[in-house]
Amino acid sequence: MASTLYTARYLLPITAPPIEGGALLVDGGRILASGSRAELRNISQGAKEVDFGDAVLMPPMVNAHTHLELSSFPDWLNTTGEVEAPRDFVDWILQLIRVRRNLDLSQFRDSLAWGLKESLRSGTGAVGDILTTLPGVDVYQGSPLYGKVYAEVLGHDKGVVSDRLETIETMLGRPPGKALNWGLSPHAPYTLSSSIIDQVFAFSAEQSLQSSIHLAESAEESAFVRSGQGAIADKLYTAAQWDPATDPASGCSPVEFLCRAGRLRRNDLMVHGVQVDDSDIALVKRTGCYVALCPRSNAALDVGRAPVVDYLKAGVQLSLGTDSLASAPSLSIWHELAFARSWFAGDVSPRKWLEIATLGGARALGLQGRIGQLASGSDASFQVVGLTGLPAIDEVEEALCAAGESVAVSHLYLAAQNVLPES
Ligand SMILES: [Zn+2]
Repeated sequence: MASTLYTARYLLPITAPPIEGGALLVDGGRILASGSRAELRNISQGAKEVDFGDAVLMPPMVNAHTHLELSSFPDWLNTTGEVEAPRDFVDWILQLIRVRRNLDLSQFRDSLAWGLKESLRSGTGAVGDILTTLPGVDVYQGSPLYGKVYAEVLGHDKGVVSDRLETIETMLGRPPGKALNWGLSPHAPYTLSSSIIDQVFAFSAEQSLQSSIHLAESAEESAFVRSGQGAIADKLYTAAQWDPATDPASGCSPVEFLCRAGRLRRNDLMVHGVQVDDSDIALVKRTGCYVALCPRSNAALDVGRAPVVDYLKAGVQLSLGTDSLASAPSLSIWHELAFARSWFAGDVSPRKWLEIATLGGARALGLQGRIGQLASGSDASFQVVGLTGLPAIDEVEEALCAAGESVAVSHLYLAAQNVLPES
C-alpha cells in the first residue's frame, strides 16, 4: 500500500513538544513516523501528500467515562414533565431513575446512536461507555470508535444480579464493536450491597474484565459507606426499598472500602475520585487504578473538586470523561478540557492537560500503543482541528486547552479512515 504524508502547521505528538511544519507518515494503517515536514519528506519518497494547512494535527480525544445511551436525557426531561431542578446529588439520582423508568428500548437505542455520532463529531476517537440497557448492544456495531463498553450491574437482589451476570457472560464472546471491547461496571458502592460487590468483582476477575466504577463522587456517598447513614440511606434506599442493614457501616472511605479487600485491582478505572484524602490517593496509586475525572458533572452536581495536583504528585494516571448528558452539557472532551483547565486550581501545564485528554484516556481504556499519541507503531488515528487565529508555537497548547467551543474539528481519522460524520 502506498504511504501518505499528512502535514499541517502544527503537529502535537503529545509525548513530545509541538512541531511547527509537522508531518505524519502513514502506511498500512499505522504511523511510520512523526516529525517535521522536511525530515519526513526525505524518508517518504513517492508518498502521497495531504496538507491540512493552518491547522493542528494531534491524537483524537478520549472520553474515558460516559453513558451514551443517556444522550437524549435533556429531551426526555422535557417530555416527562420533570420541571424542578434536583436540589442535591441524591435528588439527581432519584430524578434519573424516574426518567429512565418511562423509556423503552428504541429510545435508548436512538439515544446511544446519536451519542456515538456526536462523540465522533467532537473529535473523540475512543470512549469508556457504560451500558445499562444490554439489548441495545448491537447499536455499537459499525461504529469506528475504539474503547470499552462497560456492562453495568447494580441492585441488591442476588438472584437478579446473578441472572444479569449470566446474560453478560453470554455476550462476552462477541465484542461490541470492531475496536470496542467489554468491561464491567459495578455501578457504585451505594447501589450494590457488600456481598453483591464481592460477587461482581469476582466475576470481573474470573472473566479478566476491567472494572469501571463510580467512586468517591459525593460527600453523601462517603457518609453512607462510612456510617451507613445520611441522605443515601434516607432517600435512595427508601425509594428503592433496599435495606440499609445489608450494608453495615464499613468505617472507612469509599476508596479504602474497595481497595482494602482487593476488590479494585490494577488497571481498573475509578470514576470521579473527588472525595479522597492523601491516604486514599496513596492507596489508589498502590492499587494501580486509573482515575477518570468528570469536572463539569462534578460542578453541576456540586459534589466538590478532585485534588488533581495531589493525584499527579502521587503519580496517579488521570483521564477525562464527560459523564452523561444527565449531568453535563455536552459530549465534547474539548469542552471538558477547557472547563478543567480553568476550574482546577494548581499548577498543571497545558501540555499535561492535553496528555490527560488523549493519552491519559487511552491508557485508562487499555489502548496505549494504539491511540493517544502520534508515535511510530501506533494506529493512524488522529484529528485535525482549527482555531480562529492559531497562535505562535509556544502558545498553541495553552490556546488549545482554553478553546472549548471555538475548536473546529475538520477531520477525524480512526485506523486510517476519515470517520467524521458529515452532519
Ligand atoms: Zn457516570
